[in-house]
Amino acid sequence: MSDATYDTGDARVRVAIIGSGPAGSYTAGHLLRHSAPELHIDLFERLPTPWGLVRAGVAPDHPKIKSVDRIFERTAEHARLRYFGNVDFGEHLTLEHLRQHYNAIVYAVGTPVDRAMEIPGEDLDRSYAATDFVGWYNGHPDFRDLEFDLRGERAIVVGAGNVALDVARMLLLTRDELASTDVADHALEVLAASAIKEVLVVARRGPEQAAFTNPELLELGELSAADVVVDAAELALAGEGHDPGADATARRNAEILQEYAARPLSGKPRRIVLRFLLSPLALEGSGQVESVTLARNELYAESDGSLRARATDKRVTVAAHAVFRAIGYRGSALPGVPFDQHRSVIANEGGRVLGEEGVRPGEYVVGWAKRGPSGVIGTNKKDANETVDRLLEDLAAGRLLAPAPIGDAALEAFIRELQPAVVDYPGWARIDRHERQLGESSGRPRVKLTRIAEMLDAAKQK
Ligand SMILES: Cc1cc2nc3c(=O)[nH]c(=O)nc-3n(C[C@H](O)[C@H](O)[C@H](O)COP(=O)(O)OP(=O)(O)OC[C@H]3O[C@@H](n4cnc5c(N)ncnc54)[C@H](O)[C@@H]3O)c2cc1C
Repeated sequence: MSDATYDTGDARVRVAIIGSGPAGSYTAGHLLRHSAPELHIDLFERLPTPWGLVRAGVAPDHPKIKSVDRIFERTAEHARLRYFGNVDFGEHLTLEHLRQHYNAIVYAVGTPVDRAMEIPGEDLDRSYAATDFVGWYNGHPDFRDLEFDLRGERAIVVGAGNVALDVARMLLLTRDELASTDVADHALEVLAASAIKEVLVVARRGPEQAAFTNPELLELGELSAADVVVDAAELALAGEGHDPGADATARRNAEILQEYAARPLSGKPRRIVLRFLLSPLALEGSGQVESVTLARNELYAESDGSLRARATDKRVTVAAHAVFRAIGYRGSALPGVPFDQHRSVIANEGGRVLGEEGVRPGEYVVGWAKRGPSGVIGTNKKDANETVDRLLEDLAAGRLLAPAPIGDAALEAFIRELQPAVVDYPGWARIDRHERQLGESSGRPRVKLTRIAEMLDAAKQK
């Protein structure tokens, strides 16, 4: 007898989570741990493959960090969770569809869009967004056909966070270092053949205001083929030790940079140069980037004591073959979902979605889509706790949506009608197994499939 006939789903509290990155996965984990047995989760993901930026953002030479996916796998294998990969909210699934069948909807869609520098020359060839480069080397299908020209000697990376350091490192790793990672095959060839000898990482403010984490900064000192270079005079300009807002990480960053400034060159063939108090004003070149003009900045104290940067009248022009901007990500609006244009996140209060009339019943947001693109993977766990707490309070108070009951099988049939090419969890497990098998012969953790059609094929192979 079919589930559709006999299971009306009367007792089910159904939660739809949109996005299977860390935020969506932690949310599912918390809900399953803390809620009553009638709570069932459907996890929707626009790609066939799950885990968001753990697969498509974290650098390939950081396999330990990527291994957090084991925690997410355990959650996804829970009997009260179903995974619907290759289902895009906006394209296949609308808010109305979800309201029809779910008591609560949690948006965990991240902040996928690049932040522009908004300076002249930004549209020249060889002016690249880190979002594109990162997606490309990680084999995200949206970016796999992009091309990056690494045939010159110097690249400039604009930004003072870990993404800037990831980009710089990926530009400087050797073929051997890359070959043992899960970097996408198309990127491996281009990166291994790169002519880039020097990468300048350019920060608007000083060392104590940079958003690097200590391990990522320390790692630069251990690159096999690149020396790290820091100018002591530039550090002195930033007036180290004067930022009252500097936390322990920032103070340790400043120490690490002092150590780098004192370190002699060891004669490695490549260099990573960390520069401070510089803002790009324009990218120049005929058709493609050839140089960058930067303003020398100075720090000044705001009335609250915090240190900001402002341009002086000093300018410096640096020849460069390519520029990568890594100055942040921002969210994009989902159809029918209130969006805070100012913060570029889904409008919310502590995780409850806020419409013009106030809190929207049964709609929640979590992770980068909720608080903006900051924090490491673990930060999303605490963040998911907060959103889940609000959802469970609303469940207890009878404030969720009240759709007509539907059985599991009937609901699945409804979703498969909207998107016949759903990839379920066993389908993802087959993609995963296939990628790992491809990697085995070459000593790599996996060889990623980078086209949706290939993924759908692998998902079907028994
Ligand atoms: C380049 C880079 C490197 C990083 N490296 C590290 C690191 O080394 N260590 C660390 O701790 N943190 C790192 N982070 C931070 C970490 O990745 C984030 O904190 C975390 O991924 C944010 O989780 P999230 O779930 O909010 O967003 P995401 O990870 O972006 O997940 C969002 C998910 O939603 C899906 N989605 C989007 N729109 C839709 C839609 N319309 N319908 C269905 N699904 C949708 C996406 O495909 C994606 O799977 C890095 C971040 C970046 C950008």
